[in-house]
Amino acid sequence: MPNSDRQGGPNLCPCGNNASYEECCQPLHLRQKSAQTAEQLMRSRFCAFVKEQWQYLLDTAHPKETAPNAIEELKNWSTTKTWGMLKILKTRQGKTNNDTGEVEFVAFYQEPSASSGSEAKPILHQHHEYSHFEKIDSHWMFTQGIAQEPIKVNRNEPCPCNSGKKAKKCCLA
Ligand SMILES: [Zn+2]
Ligand SMILES: [Zn+2]
Repeated sequence: MPNSDRQGGPNLCPCGNNASYEECCQPLHLRQKSAQTAEQLMRSRFCAFVKEQWQYLLDTAHPKETAPNAIEELKNWSTTKTWGMLKILKTRQGKTNNDTGEVEFVAFYQEPSASSGSEAKPILHQHHEYSHFEKIDSHWMFTQGIAQEPIKVNRNEPCPCNSGKKAKKCCLA
């Protein structure tokens, strides 16, 4: 499979769109553009974890997180994770002419195994969530997420860790 068909290919945005980071999520992270749809905001928030755009995550959530250590907490939560694919499973509303929207997604990541010798293979995990978004002052905001049961990973598809190998030859081996 060519690199361009793969998330996290060298020049593609980590959010999984078939465009470079510079053309896709970076203008949102730099506040040069704002998300037009709930899905676009969702993708840019996932991408913000990969690109360590902590303030963006705080600024696109409602109600606004005001704890003084909020950025520290995001960093600490994300630091052990190596982010893989983002899969958008379903969207409901969340279009330019809507005021609310829902996005169901799975974000894959690897974490070192608990029995971590230095040789230990990282373990593939997933975060499956139903996220709710609202347009507030004409900006899409993440309002709440409800965690869901993990989905089944197809062994014959590219591994969600973005290695480029089939899952059965990689994290599901
Ligand atoms: Zn993107
Ligand atoms: Zn893998």
